[in-house]
Amino acid sequence: MGLYDYYEPDPPIECPKCGGRLCGWQGRDVHPALFVWRQGVAAPVEQRVDPEIRALPERMAAFRVSSEFWIYGGECACGYRFDDSRFGVRCTAPDGVWRTAEIDPPPTPARDAGDGWIQCSECSDVWHRVEGRRLYLCPSCGRLTRLQETGNDA
Ligand SMILES: [Zn+2]
Ligand SMILES: [Zn+2]
Repeated sequence: MGLYDYYEPDPPIECPKCGGRLCGWQGRDVHPALFVWRQGVAAPVEQRVDPEIRALPERMAAFRVSSEFWIYGGECACGYRFDDSRFGVRCTAPDGVWRTAEIDPPPTPARDAGDGWIQCSECSDVWHRVEGRRLYLCPSCGRLTRLQETGNDA
């Protein structure tokens, strides 16, 4: 039970508080052995153990993730910690290679309200949009929200 693997989503999952990146994701998939898995790479990219007990490179190269797995425990340098009690990150590897990482259940939708504002679909509060960011914590209701894609989103 003690062992787990490390996971590095690529692109990184955004910190909803500051827009930074969440690191430190962990999970227990097929053979947790402190492997480091990176999204888009078939085999573990590293094993965080002492060199003398590390798996042989040819053996490590043969490991693969499951077709579906979950990761937890993301945190940011700003102090934000991913709310594992309410959300997980569902990952899929349809062809044996980690391809997707989606927050599940999906965050509350927020919409572009124009003029640089974003509106929470749950409580209708608005706040300033930050260029390049999609995940936010609603300042009023505290929900994890995600800016919805729109047709004219530049
Ligand atoms: Zn942060
Ligand atoms: Zn809200």
